[in-house]
Amino acid sequence: MPELPDVEIAARALRRWTAGARIVGARCLDGYVVRPTSRPAFVRALEGRRVLKVDRKGKWLRWLLSGGGRLVSHLGMTGEWDRAAARAPLGRFERVRIDLSRGTRRWSVRYLDARRFGRLIAASDDPPEWTSLGPDPLADGVDVPRLSSSLRGPRSIKETLMDQSVLAGVGNILATEALWVARIDPRSPGRTLRPGDVGAVARALRRTIARELGARSEAAPAAEDVFFVYGRAGAPCPRCDVRLEKVVLGGRTTAYCPGCQVLRE
Ligand SMILES: [Zn+2]
Repeated sequence: MPELPDVEIAARALRRWTAGARIVGARCLDGYVVRPTSRPAFVRALEGRRVLKVDRKGKWLRWLLSGGGRLVSHLGMTGEWDRAAARAPLGRFERVRIDLSRGTRRWSVRYLDARRFGRLIAASDDPPEWTSLGPDPLADGVDVPRLSSSLRGPRSIKETLMDQSVLAGVGNILATEALWVARIDPRSPGRTLRPGDVGAVARALRRTIARELGARSEAAPAAEDVFFVYGRAGAPCPRCDVRLEKVVLGGRTTAYCPGCQVLRE
């Protein structure tokens, strides 16, 4: 599932593909991904507008359009944006096509999604899906006092980090990796963390995001090869050689090292 680094890469590509462009046409091939808006209303909300800016918060992308319009999108499990020549044949799993122009140039960007867990929201203001998000750890940084106050309860540190209203964009991979980097057991209840722990988690998140962004930016090894512990239960810990374990927290499998990640109680 795309997490913050993947969506950041998508945002950077969309910025290049839409800079200074006007939407001269739009086609919605699948009403499900634009629900509850109808397909004609979705098209009307986009056509004729200029793309002013593309930004990202957590796992959501937002196109700011002239006249106050917005196109807010989530990639779900398998969504992706790509660029295509004007009048290119339909792509496999193509759900939405947006035709763009700048001067005499014409091209399209397309939203493709095999499993259709993604969403596209055309709106005249930011939808609740966007406004309910907490700060983005890459764009806004991690505010340690604010994170500490979100960690006062009995909920595990791992589940708190994955709460999109606490930090937007932290998913299972980022949370699992960052807690290993910070040497904190993912089961530790938030209220048991010490001030130094929260600072360590904030630094670990920054490092993990930077590392994964770097891996995705190069024509690099498969993303899985950059993980220290995610998906590696049963293998030796890369830091202390103890066998990695796994536990289910908030319905998600979490790998951790019982040797070097401290359980606070
Ligand atoms: Zn270890």
